[in-house]
Amino acid sequence: MKLIKIDKKSLKEGIDKLKRTYGVFGPVREKDEFEFKALGAAEMPDFSFSNTRMSPKAIVYPQTQLMFTYSLNDADDDCRILKEVPMDERPRAVIGIRPCDALAFPLVRRNFDTPEYQDTFWVKAYEATTFVGLACNVPCGTCFCTSAGTSPFGKEGLDVLLVEDGDDLFAEALTPKGEALLETAGWTAEAGGGAEEKITALAATANEQISSTVAFDNIKNREILELYNAPFWEEEGFSCINCGTCTYVCPTCWCFDIQDETYGKSGVRMRNWDTCMSPLFTLHASGHNPRTKKVERVRQRFMHKLKYYVDKYDNGIQCVGCGRCVRLCPVNIDIRSICNKMNNFDSEACKCETASS
Ligand code: SF4
Ligand code: SF4
Repeated sequence: MKLIKIDKKSLKEGIDKLKRTYGVFGPVREKDEFEFKALGAAEMPDFSFSNTRMSPKAIVYPQTQLMFTYSLNDADDDCRILKEVPMDERPRAVIGIRPCDALAFPLVRRNFDTPEYQDTFWVKAYEATTFVGLACNVPCGTCFCTSAGTSPFGKEGLDVLLVEDGDDLFAEALTPKGEALLETAGWTAEAGGGAEEKITALAATANEQISSTVAFDNIKNREILELYNAPFWEEEGFSCINCGTCTYVCPTCWCFDIQDETYGKSGVRMRNWDTCMSPLFTLHASGHNPRTKKVERVRQRFMHKLKYYVDKYDNGIQCVGCGRCVRLCPVNIDIRSICNKMNNFDSEACKCETASS
């Protein structure tokens, strides 16, 4: 493993060099929270964060994305012809993304970039991005990444992994994109002996601090209808207020809605993040709505992440264990307990209980 040592005092110099080639994004403090933002000329990423409130998915998949423009003016030659809005395809670098959020990109890629279908907006933005991770030396109490496919020092989805060690950072390039970024920043000084051992010790300490776990090993073997009809959905869905917070903050939620907005004789077609927690999400043009009840929408969110996705891709759950939805749900609905309930559900015992009551 080739490790580079970066003195934090020289971080600004390297990031200034990166800004000449890349659009650079990083975590910045916004009142009491942190968010990923495009860094201005004088701005630096602030590494004193646990994780951001919103995930950095918007860097690749904006909350609102203009796709096409059109004219409704019959005098125009291109009247009623959709014209693609040019994308910003310049290279961009995300500095300080946490390993859980980085893993979310290859996970959602299974939806946006398939052999049959490619979402060119997502794919072009993803391919233009270099992901520079920051290992979590001190994970949050709600993190459960170690049972969701990664870990505080996980590398999947990253081009570079940075590890903080006092006044220094260690950097490991994980891909050619990552090597190019380190070269561009001028971060080339090899770390001396002992760096690898230090990182191993920091990783072990971080892993020990993850206190939340989820189990999903039984979910794949269960019949869909067995879980779909489980009685615990009423209880879980009762307190949900359908605010959609859990889906908007989630790095692995990918649903969107496409809308046209016209202004006089011209218009734009855009896509906006949508949420399966909204009753309008499944409203058909006919007026029929297959999920009118709140409990049906709550069940859909968890069945999609923990059962339908698991069955379709056979590659873990559609969750990276970032804990945002656990922290931010206003009524404390907790994916960890729901996952464990789904995993341990015993429909036979349930039938017996119903029969004897
Ligand atoms: S954040 Fe909580 S209350 Fe809001 S939609 Fe999600 S589960 Fe329901
Ligand atoms: S479902 Fe919750 S814990 Fe899992 S990735 Fe989404 S926000 Fe994070």
